[in-house]
Amino acid sequence: MKEEYTEKRRRLSLDDRFNFSCHAALPCFNSCCSDVNIFLTPYDVLRMRRTTQLSSGDFLKRYTIPLLGDEGLPLVALKMMEDENKSCPFVTPDGCSIYENRPWSCRMYPIFPVSSNEEFLIEEKPSCLAVNDGKQWTIEKWRKEQGIDVYDKMSEPYKEITFNNYFQRGNKLDPEETNLIYMSCYNLDEFKRFLFETRFFDMHNVEKDAIERIMRDEEELLDFGYRWVRFNLFGEETLRPKDTISRELLPVKRED
Ligand code: SF4
Ligand code: SF4
Repeated sequence: MKEEYTEKRRRLSLDDRFNFSCHAALPCFNSCCSDVNIFLTPYDVLRMRRTTQLSSGDFLKRYTIPLLGDEGLPLVALKMMEDENKSCPFVTPDGCSIYENRPWSCRMYPIFPVSSNEEFLIEEKPSCLAVNDGKQWTIEKWRKEQGIDVYDKMSEPYKEITFNNYFQRGNKLDPEETNLIYMSCYNLDEFKRFLFETRFFDMHNVEKDAIERIMRDEEELLDFGYRWVRFNLFGEETLRPKDTISRELLPVKRED
């Protein structure tokens, strides 16, 4: 029987315990790093790109597949290689070559949050020899061990974009709006050029210290990207334009 029909997912609450111990001595080592669908958050891309030393545009072109969600939201999937196993481009015989910057879903595996942060599923594939073996964890200990907190903190504002009421009311983005999110949240080098090679900061009230932080710190740049999207697409007060801008040029708060 094919593996996908025999794997199990068991429900866990915050206090439940599970056993899991993955290491290089297991015969299945690395087998889960191929032919897998991994959707990347903007913060995943920021961290992964940093390891490769590529520009964000080159990283996205080389390692990702751009997709489109139902609402017109950009989705970014990790591109597997075209070898026999469809391996992840970052897997090596010694394991993950970007381990310190691996994406959120690789960190959380085999745990998947259900809807809130209080209920979870654990995937128990028969082929994964780490399940029900070795060290015992609670969800909290697992998250800590995997360095999840900073990923969740950096992705929270993106959720405020993707779960915005605008979409709950059935609205969709047009291609220009999709591109605006893609540039401001995923293609940070291009977003930085847009900010610093135009009159952007002449037209918006942003403190000098904040501009300097945006210039030198990518996390600040991403955070500013989220603010720009919410201001530009949803008319939220996440930025203050300077009085010199004609009111007709300002985004309108979107209620429809
Ligand atoms: S299949 Fe399980 S035990 Fe094997 S490498 Fe992947 S996570 Fe580790
Ligand atoms: S990024 Fe690393 S952990 Fe994730 S699938 Fe690729 S090699 Fe495996």
